Order: sequence, then C-alpha cells, then structure tokens
Amino acid sequence: MSQANAVPTVKLLIDGKLVESTTTQWREVVNPATQEVLARVPFATAEEMNAAVASAKRAFQTWRKTPIGTRARIFLKYQQLIRDNMKELAAILTAEQGKTLPDAEGDVFRGLEVVEHAAGIGNLQLGELANNVANAVDTYTLLQPLGVCAGITPFNFPAMIPLWMFPMAIATGNTFVLKPSEQDPMVTMRLAELALEAGIPAGVLNVIHGGADAVNLICDHPDIKAVSFVGSTKVGTHVYHRASQAGKRVQCMMGAKNHGVILPDANKQQTLNNLVGAAFGAAGQRCMALSVLVLVGEARAWLPELVEKAKTLKVNAGTEQGTDVGPLVSCAALDRVTGLIQRGVEEGAELALDGRQPNVSGFEKGNFVGPTIFAKVKPEMSIYREEVFGPVLCVMEAETLDEAIALVNANPNGNGTALFTRSGAAARHFQEEIDVGQVGINVPIPVPVPLFSFTGSRASKLGDLGPYGKQVVQFYTQTKTVTQRWFDEDDVGGINTTITLK
Ligand code: NAD
Repeated sequence: MSQANAVPTVKLLIDGKLVESTTTQWREVVNPATQEVLARVPFATAEEMNAAVASAKRAFQTWRKTPIGTRARIFLKYQQLIRDNMKELAAILTAEQGKTLPDAEGDVFRGLEVVEHAAGIGNLQLGELANNVANAVDTYTLLQPLGVCAGITPFNFPAMIPLWMFPMAIATGNTFVLKPSEQDPMVTMRLAELALEAGIPAGVLNVIHGGADAVNLICDHPDIKAVSFVGSTKVGTHVYHRASQAGKRVQCMMGAKNHGVILPDANKQQTLNNLVGAAFGAAGQRCMALSVLVLVGEARAWLPELVEKAKTLKVNAGTEQGTDVGPLVSCAALDRVTGLIQRGVEEGAELALDGRQPNVSGFEKGNFVGPTIFAKVKPEMSIYREEVFGPVLCVMEAETLDEAIALVNANPNGNGTALFTRSGAAARHFQEEIDVGQVGINVPIPVPVPLFSFTGSRASKLGDLGPYGKQVVQFYTQTKTVTQRWFDEDDVGGINTTITLK
C-alpha cells in the first residue's frame, strides 16, 4: 500500500455522489499483462463506510414504498445501458483483471442476464393467497424488503458477481452497500455509474472500497440486515459466522474443486474441446472451472490427445486477438500457482504438461502460466486438496462410473461437476447420486441462467438460499403472513377460547 499520487483514483459512491476518499491507505490496481498501474483504490475510512450505510438506511424509507413497476423500469433502462456500453466495460475489465476481451464480454453478459431478470421483478415478488381458510378468513403473504443489504465480491468476475447481487436486492425494494474486490474495482464502478444513469436514486446503491476492515464493518454494522458474499472458503466462512452472529441473513458462495467425469462412450472430440476450454479458460480463475478430470475405463487412453489439445491454446494478453489464456490476476497469484505446481511435482504427480514461464512476446512482465496438466494425481496431494485457481488440471482415473462418483463425493467441495457420456441411463444415475450443487451433462460449466438460482453446495456454500433466480427473492425479502377476517355488519361472532380459527 502507498500514498495516493497522480494516477487516477477510484471513487466511493455515497448518497448518489462519486466522492474521493480522504483515507491515507491506497492500493494500486495493476494491469496483470503489463504491470502498468491503472488506478489507485482507497481503503475507505470508517466514517465513509458508515456514511454509505446511513445513506442506504435513509433511502430505504422511500425506496421500499416505490411501486414495483417503477423499480422494474429502472432495470429495463439499465440493461440497455449495459448493452450500449459493452465494449467499454469489457475493455476496462480486461485491463484490470486480465481475461480475454471475448471472455470479459461474457462476464458482463452473464451479469446482464440477471439485470434482465430484475426487470421482471413484477412477476417474481408475488405473495400467496388462500381464500376462506376459516369462516370469512383469508390468509396471504407479503414479501417485504429487509432494509440495507450488502455485497462483498471476488476478483474473478468483477462485472457478473456484483450484478448477481445489487440488481435483485434493489429490485425487491432494498437499498445496497457494495464492497467490490480491491484487486479490480474499476469495471464495477463503471457499472455503478451506469446504474445511477438508469435512474437508481441517491442512496439506493452505495459502493465502498477496502479489504478486511470493510468486510468486518459490513458483518458487524447493526443497520445492515443481509450480506451476500462470493469469494474464497476461508473468508466466506469468516463472513458467514461473523455476520450471522450479528443477527444478519448471510449467503456465502465459496471455493471449489470441480470434477469432470469422462465415460468412454462420450463424443471424444467434443468432450476434449469442452474440457480444455473449461479447465484453462480465464486461466482457470473461475469458481466453476473444471480443475479435476476423472477418466473412466477406456477413456484413460485419452490423456495424450488432451495434452496435445491443451498445447494448442494461445497464452497471451487478454487484449490480443486469438488469446485463449490470459495472465493470472496478480504477481501473488502467479507465485501461489507456480508454488503449487512445484509441490505437485515434489509430491509425485506426473507433470504431463508444464505451463510455467511461457514465452509471451511483448508481455514479458505479465503473470502468465500456460495450461498445465498433472496425471496420476492422488487425493492426498496438495494440488488436489487445494483450490489452485490457475490453469492447472489434475487428471485422475477410475475403473467405473460408481468409483468416479465416490471420488467426487469424497471431496469436501460441492460447487460444480460435469459428466460426459452418450448414455442417458448413466447421466441419470450420475445426476441422482452425485452430491454436488450444479451438475452438467455434456455441459462443462453448468452455471444456471437466472431463471434458476446458483446452487453450490457442501463446503462451497454457506446459507440456504443462492444468488439470483427465485431463491434470491426469498433471501432479500421477509415473508409476512397476514390472516384477515372481515365481518358482515350483522355478524357479532362469539367468544373463542381455543386456538382454532372458526
Ligand atoms: P477472497 O476471498 O480473497 O476475496 C473475496 C472478498 O473478500 C474480497 O472483496 C476481499 O476484499 C475480501 N477479503 C479478502 N481477504 C479478507 C479477509 N482476510 N477478511 C475479510 N475480507 C477479506 O476471494 P478472491 O481471491 O477475490 O476470489 C477467488 C475465490 O472466490 C475462489 O476461491 C473462488 O472459487 C471463489 N469464487 C466462488 C464463486 C462461487 O459462486 N462459489 C464465484 C466466484 C469466485
């Protein structure tokens, strides 16, 4: 961390205004392909963060009463603004995060889908009504907003994940305080600016920046009613416990180790193409990346072809046309990933493809690791136990589908998995027996579209309800059940000393 200087500064969004932080703590936002300093991001002061929460609390008093159609129309406008600015958003994202420009557009697009979903809030925030549950008694539910909600997001999807959170929270009538990743906050800020342009009123969306102190303030603040977190298992577990202890609703989507299971009857070329894309795309920095392959039976013979395909991927800066694998987000991530590769070698895994120190002409300072494949990986090895979060694929073997299922189920994580097969019976057996939240059948990265919810499970998730889809409407609202009776004028009723509704 260093003092602010002439490099542009990332602003806070408080009470509808973009403001310069008065903090003395700043961090550089660095282009991972070039090490160019793009901006400095503040670690907001406690006063600034409290001002953001106070603004959200004030705004809630009017926003909660704003008609649902008015809320929906803001998101209709917002989705158009995101579309109109797609190229600019992708360029900012690639510069600060590293992923390729087409993948950066994908990152924005998957968030845009949630904004479109938020525009349909009129159909989503419907209560239930039961007529005549007792004599002249009707019961119905109201789904009412909670108040100030907060979001804490990771570096790897700096557009999509903030858009998983604040549009649905705000569309359901809440106000929001967002804390983006301090590693790449610039595209998130551009999205916040566009949200203001779409008509989100002052105070309804606030953005603060920082690290652990900002996260802990969110967990503890008595005026914040719910927290959505996406990030690592270590931090998510801390957030879940600390914010729950403070009486908040909490949902935490966390780390992963996603297995692809390959049966020998799968369409070979299609499967190998899918596997290579899902393992090495975004340099493996996706929570739904396939980081482990389980080759079943005769599919074990496919390894050499997989390695050959992986070698064809082009490692380069995300801005260069034809790039498949961009840089890792930071020098620290590069050290961590190369350290884990070294540990894999030392622990006896077979390095079938070594992607360390690739030659990337013109971007020699970038944090690059090329596709790396380990064969003969055993469950006790560090490269299997830890989430590498880099372009490193562990290949394991199984005799039968059931053996593969047992291996996947024994891993603590339950984010995503995929089976490749031509057999409907095998696919059905897999879907029934696998203990993972999101299952792909010949779909390598089965992230659901927003008509459904993101449904990671076991150690990949804490909290009952997932982001977006129908579940998040429940997460961001309190169900109030109203039981009402209207008497006819001449009906005087009678004294009822029982609990029964009569
Ligand atoms: P991270 O946990 O380091 O950071 C997430 C957020 O927590 C950031 O906003 C960061 O500022 C904050 N934070 C970091 N350290 C903290 C601390 N000690 N105390 C309090 N807050 C802290 O995660 P990351 O490296 O940005 O993102 C990668 C991780 O996110 C991977 O584990 C990946 O699997 C996971 N992820 C999960 C999903 C999912 O849906 N399950 C989606 C995307 C990413």
